[in-house]
Amino acid sequence: MTETITGEPANSPHPLSRARAEQHDRDDPLALMRRRFDLPGGLIYLDGNSLGALPRGVAARLGEVTRHEWGDKLIAGWWQGWMDLPRQTGARIAPLIGADPDHVVACDSTSLNLYKLAAAALLARPDRSVILSDADNFPTDLYMFEGLSTLMGKAVELRTVPRAAIMDHLTTDVALLSLSHVDYRTAEQWDMAALTHAAHKVGALSLWDLSHSAGAVAVDLAGAQADMAVGCGYKFLNGGPGAPAYLYVAPDLCNTLVNPLSGWMGHQAPFDFAPRYQPAEGIDRFACGTPPVLGLAALDRALEVFADVDLPALYAKGQALCALFLALTKDLPGICALSPTKDIPRGCHVALSHRQAKTIMAQLASRGVVGDFRPPDVMRFGFSALYCRYVDVWDAAHALALEIGKSEDGLSDNQAHPSPPHPAP
Ligand SMILES: *Cc1c(COP(=O)(O)O)cnc(C)c1O
Repeated sequence: MTETITGEPANSPHPLSRARAEQHDRDDPLALMRRRFDLPGGLIYLDGNSLGALPRGVAARLGEVTRHEWGDKLIAGWWQGWMDLPRQTGARIAPLIGADPDHVVACDSTSLNLYKLAAAALLARPDRSVILSDADNFPTDLYMFEGLSTLMGKAVELRTVPRAAIMDHLTTDVALLSLSHVDYRTAEQWDMAALTHAAHKVGALSLWDLSHSAGAVAVDLAGAQADMAVGCGYKFLNGGPGAPAYLYVAPDLCNTLVNPLSGWMGHQAPFDFAPRYQPAEGIDRFACGTPPVLGLAALDRALEVFADVDLPALYAKGQALCALFLALTKDLPGICALSPTKDIPRGCHVALSHRQAKTIMAQLASRGVVGDFRPPDVMRFGFSALYCRYVDVWDAAHALALEIGKSEDGLSDNQAHPSPPHPAP
């Protein structure tokens, strides 16, 4: 076989051709994972970073919990598995975030978990007043810290600074550095170990939001010596709409941090009905109220998908899908990539800007290519390596090129097109 200078066999399809994408799918060791999901036919779903697809088996599990556990066992269900679900589900998430299973619990929403852990950090650093975060962090993270600062009066200041200025603002008055490991808009990734180390050097604690990381990119909380983390159950973990979130607290802090939302499920002995709060040992103290059994059962079952997945291969495929999409769209007129285009760590989604972004995303959705729009002009495409194929990437890029061609020809105007679907978290 003759070879070109780049080492490609001369008769091999062009690297950016559809035939080549098909070849990648044939060679993909993870291709069969797609069968673990119930995906509607004819749809290219690129929004798994916002709401993951439905894993097969979840609907049956929910039916079983509803009919046989709730229906037949009634209140006995609490002692036949339901009480174990927060920790059992947390233990399934642990390998995806580089944590010991005993230090992760599935509970509440990401917003609530942020609040609990940020307040715990402030209580642990009583001589400090600042929560430092990135000005472009996900809104709920900033809103929760703002609310906490309002509650604490002048005692707490939320300091938000541009991404590039974070290091300069890590001063000795910082109690907590809280960042989203992968930026929800641009997919930029922080160096968790380096930032955590810098926080520790000035005596601050670190709290990482893994909502756009877990299940998509490698995370090593223990290796980075991160203090605390939270994340979402319904994005790359596929736990379903409004799935419970999770939280992590490092082993050395588990028994010293104080959960300000001291609900009875974080009590040492909830069913003693004691008059005073006494925190449980370990991670259990960060729970608050009664676990949402149906939501946890769905998330727990959804996480089974990951049990035998080759994680390094999964993460590598996610990066390859994003790189292919970036390469296929880089020369489209009016397009600007907001995500890192170099081979540096990024999340598993790609953000592009275009002045007609809103219209284009609505048109793509009507062609069966589902991504999402973020104001003012951002198009987001999520590539969940468990069920996205290389041909999906190619077809989506092709559809995008056609839509952009139309909008550049002036054929497109906002009135003539349907509005995009309502935004979702
Ligand atoms: C999706 C997401 C959330 C969502 O929080 P909820 O409380 O589940 O609504 C929080 N933070 C980040 C970074 C997210 O991406």
